[in-house]
Amino acid sequence: MKFNPDGNTGKSSILLIYTGGTIGMKVDPAEQALKPFDFSQILEEVPELGKFAYRIDYCTLDSVIDSADIEPSTWQTLAGLIRDKYDRYDGFVILHGTDTMAYSASALSFMTEGLTKPVIFTGSQLPIGVARTDGKENLISSVEIAAAKDSDGHAIVPEVCICFGNSLMRGNRTSKVNSEDFRAFRSPNCPNLAEAGISIRYNTNIIIRPSDWDRRPAFHTSLDTRVSILKLHPGITPQVVRNILCGPETRAVIIETYGAGNAPSREWFLDLVKEGISMGKVILNVTQCLAGSVNMELYATGKRLKDAGVAGGYDITTEGALAKLFYLMGRTEDNAEVIRGLDENLRGEITK
Ligand code: ASP
Repeated sequence: MKFNPDGNTGKSSILLIYTGGTIGMKVDPAEQALKPFDFSQILEEVPELGKFAYRIDYCTLDSVIDSADIEPSTWQTLAGLIRDKYDRYDGFVILHGTDTMAYSASALSFMTEGLTKPVIFTGSQLPIGVARTDGKENLISSVEIAAAKDSDGHAIVPEVCICFGNSLMRGNRTSKVNSEDFRAFRSPNCPNLAEAGISIRYNTNIIIRPSDWDRRPAFHTSLDTRVSILKLHPGITPQVVRNILCGPETRAVIIETYGAGNAPSREWFLDLVKEGISMGKVILNVTQCLAGSVNMELYATGKRLKDAGVAGGYDITTEGALAKLFYLMGRTEDNAEVIRGLDENLRGEITK
């Protein structure tokens, strides 16, 4: 990992962590192709950052990647880095590809418990070296939010967030919804934490604050990734459902159901769900709708899942559900405890 702790000095100090993605690309004049640029030149590319009276240090992960290549090991590296540098900085900004940013932000939210400082993910749809880039604005707003403090000197947003297209969203509530628009992310079930206009307007009622500002956060880096996702669709076959629900390698399965948590009422489907549960698997019901919540009491087709022992995901995103399971299963071998954790609102990821 390349680390440069010699940024300009000032009041707040921010650590910029570059993992890769479109934001860090520049056209290489020799090859006329996009290549990751050397982040030590960040102030040349975004001179506006120099106008802040902050110390901005940067570091780059050993291999800069397209976020399609993100693995839980990268999340462990990021959580470890934030843990090790926590006392030195007032906030952290993670530059990340947009494709899996919602997964990474969800994961980091569970891996950091009791945050007292902001961890802001951002990126861009157009590379930072391109004239109409959205990267500069996203980066500048992220740095400003990461450094923002209230009159008591506490961080205004001590959460893991995504800052993109003028909106600040709770990381574990987001999904990437557009592959072209500058407003690429949405948080359909949770209001945005801030909007960046002429000034940054914080939605302070929604922002989660720690119970004890003096307590160091807990960093959880153990993850159990034995989870698969079953997306229901008309025409799905018993063979496909069996492979996913009863596969020997998984400890948990997320079923992306219809609407308020409904699944086919055919007997074979329910039998396979019961078989998966009797094999000791955790089965979690999330909705494939972008907005709204699972309510397994509403329709008979949902009720049968609940009676079979399927856990309800409330209004969690699939990205959030995956990260929550990785985290909970990494903490315990006891599936009953995992199911209890799924029912709790741990980091603002569900509405209860
Ligand atoms: N493929 C890129 C990535 O996610 C896209 C982006 O950064 O917007 O790394």
